[in-house]
Amino acid sequence: MAEIQVSVQDGESKAFPQGTTVAEALKELVSGKQRKQTVAVRSDGRLLDLSTPLVLDTVFEPVSLQSETGVEILRHSTAHLMALAVKELFGDKVKVAIGPAIEDGFYYDFDRDKAFSPDDFEQIEAKMTELANARLPFARQEVSREEAIRFFTEQGEVYKLELLNDMAVDSVSLYTHGTFVDLCRGPHVPDSSWVKVFKLLRVAGSYWRGDEKRPMLTRIYGTAFADKKELKQYLDRLEEARKRDHRRLGKQLGLFTIQDQIGPGLILWQPRGAQLRRLLEDYWKDEHYKNGYQLLYTPHIARQDLWKTSGHLDFYGENMYSAMEIDEVMYQLKPMNCPFHIGVYKADKHSYREFPIRWCELGTVYRYERTGALHGLMRVRGFTQDDAHIFCRPDQLEEEIFNIIDLNLHILQTFGFDQYEVYLSTRPEKYVGSDEHWQLSTQALKQALEKKELQYQVDPGEGVFYGPKIDIKIKDQLGRSWQCSTIQVDFNLPERFQMSYTCVDGAEHQPIMIHRALMGSLERFIGVLIEHYAGAFPLWLAPEQARIMNITDDQAEYCQQVYAKLRNLGLRVENDLRNEKLNYKIREAQLMKVPYMLIIGEREKEEGTITVRRRDGENLPAMTPEAFVELVIDACRRRIV
Ligand SMILES: [Zn+2]
Ligand SMILES: [Zn+2]
Repeated sequence: MAEIQVSVQDGESKAFPQGTTVAEALKELVSGKQRKQTVAVRSDGRLLDLSTPLVLDTVFEPVSLQSETGVEILRHSTAHLMALAVKELFGDKVKVAIGPAIEDGFYYDFDRDKAFSPDDFEQIEAKMTELANARLPFARQEVSREEAIRFFTEQGEVYKLELLNDMAVDSVSLYTHGTFVDLCRGPHVPDSSWVKVFKLLRVAGSYWRGDEKRPMLTRIYGTAFADKKELKQYLDRLEEARKRDHRRLGKQLGLFTIQDQIGPGLILWQPRGAQLRRLLEDYWKDEHYKNGYQLLYTPHIARQDLWKTSGHLDFYGENMYSAMEIDEVMYQLKPMNCPFHIGVYKADKHSYREFPIRWCELGTVYRYERTGALHGLMRVRGFTQDDAHIFCRPDQLEEEIFNIIDLNLHILQTFGFDQYEVYLSTRPEKYVGSDEHWQLSTQALKQALEKKELQYQVDPGEGVFYGPKIDIKIKDQLGRSWQCSTIQVDFNLPERFQMSYTCVDGAEHQPIMIHRALMGSLERFIGVLIEHYAGAFPLWLAPEQARIMNITDDQAEYCQQVYAKLRNLGLRVENDLRNEKLNYKIREAQLMKVPYMLIIGEREKEEGTITVRRRDGENLPAMTPEAFVELVIDACRRRIV
C-alpha cells in the first residue's frame, strides 16, 4: 500500500500507510496528554474529524477541546446529542430543522405539534446523559445529493429536504450518531462520551428560516463546556444577567411598559421612567450647551420628496414605514433627523465665520425592525436619538472630531463607563465623495483618536458609503459590550441638498457635515443603564431619591410638612404613610431601590428631625430636613450615591 507523510505543525512527522485515520496518526505523533485533549485537527484551513482517513500527505494542527474551536465542536456535537435524545423520546412526531453552535452554547430547532417547554428539560437531559455514557461514535459518510434526498424523504424530514434542495453540490456528508442521522458538514467529537458538562437553558419560538410565513418551530437552547467549573461560572453570570435584565427591572421599578394593544417595539414611559428620562435629557442638554451646541426641535413626518432628495428612500427605504397621504401629497415618518437639520441650515445664508455650527436634538425617529428582532428597550420601533449635526470647514474637522470624542467620553464616564472598544471604519468599495475628502476625513478621525490616546481597531472598508466613521462600544458591569456612540463624516447630504457657505475669498463652498450620537438612543441607553446599575440608580438619576415613612399615624402630619419642604427644595421625594409595619415599608422601598428612607417617629417629630437610612441598610445620625437636602444636593453635584 502507498505511504503518505503525516506531520504535526511545528512537531513530529512520520510515514503512514494510506488510509490511516487522523486518530491513528495522532497516537504516534502527539504525546499522551495533548492527544487526550485533541478533539479534531485543522489541516489546510479545514477541520477534520479524528476518524477521517488520510489519503494524501498532510500537515495538521491538533485542536484542543479547551480551545475556542474545540468548545464550538463540543457544543455543536451536544446539539446532535440533544436531537438524538429528543428523537428517541418523542419519535416520529418530531421533525428536526437545524442545530448549530452559537456564542455561549448551541440550539436545535424542532417541529412538534406540542411545543417543548422547560418542563421537558429534565427528561431530555437524563436521556442525553444516558446516551453520552453509551459512547456512541459520530460516523461520517459522504453520499450523493440524490441519495441524501432519498434518505430524508423516507424519514419524512421535510426541513432537511428543503436544505438539500437549496444546496448546489453533488455530494453531501451525513453523520450517524446512534439512531440519529443528520445532514452536517462536521466535525464532531469522536463519540458522545466527550459530552460531559452540558445544560439545557431555555426555549423560544423560531420561524423556519426566520420567515414569519413559515412554520413556527421550538428552539431549545443549551450550552456545554469542557469542564464543570466553567459551566458554573457561566450559569452564575446568566443568573446575574437575569437579575439585571432591564425588562424585568423595568417592570419591578415601574419604569416602562410595552403593550400589545399599543404595538410591539413601542415604549410607554411610566412616571418613574419618564422622570429618569427627564433627568437624562436635562443632563444631556446642559452638557451640550456647555460645549457650544444649540438645541433644535423638528417634526416627525415630512414630504416623501424630502426622503427622495436625501437618498433615504433609495438606501434606507426598507427600514421606513409606509407613506401617508395628506392633501394629496405623500408624507413619511422620519427614520433620521438629518434632513431636518439641513432644512434649518438652509433657512439662512452662512459664512465661514459662523463655523463650526453645532446643532443637537433629542429627535424621535421610527424604523421598521422585524418582530423577532425587538428586545425590550434595546431594539424598538420608535426611539429618540441623542442626535447632533456639525457643519464645519475642512480645516476645522480634526478639532471638531476631537471635541466630540472628548464630550462623548466625558458623558460616558459620568455613568461609570470607562472601558471602550473603538472602531474606525474606512472607505468601502462603493462610495461617494472625492478621494481627497476621504483621505482628509479618515486622517482627521485617526488624529483625533490618537490625540485622545484611545486604542482603536481599523475596520477596513466598513465605513458608510458617504464617509468614514468611528463607533464606540461601552463595557458594562458584567463585561458585556454595547454599541452606543457613533461619529460619521458625510460628503453626501451636503451635495444632495446643495448646501453652501461663503468662504473668505467670497466664493461658495460646500460645508462638511458630521453626524453623531453619543448615547445612541435614549431607550437603548436607559436599557443599558438599568442593567449596569442593576436598577439602583445613583442619587442624581434616581426617579425617587427618598421615601418618607411614619411609624404611627401620630406623625402623619409632620411627615406631610417634611414632604412639602423637601419637594419645595427640589428633592424627588414620596410619602409612605400607610398603616403598615415599618419593616414592611422599608422592604418595599428597598425593592424599589430608593436611595434614602426617611423614618419619622415620635422623637423625630418632637425634635424636628428625620432619621436617614440608606438603601444598603446603613443608618445616618438624625438630622434636620434642611441638612438632608444639602447632603443630597452635594451628592448629586458629585454624582455619587
Ligand atoms: Zn453536526
Ligand atoms: Zn444625521
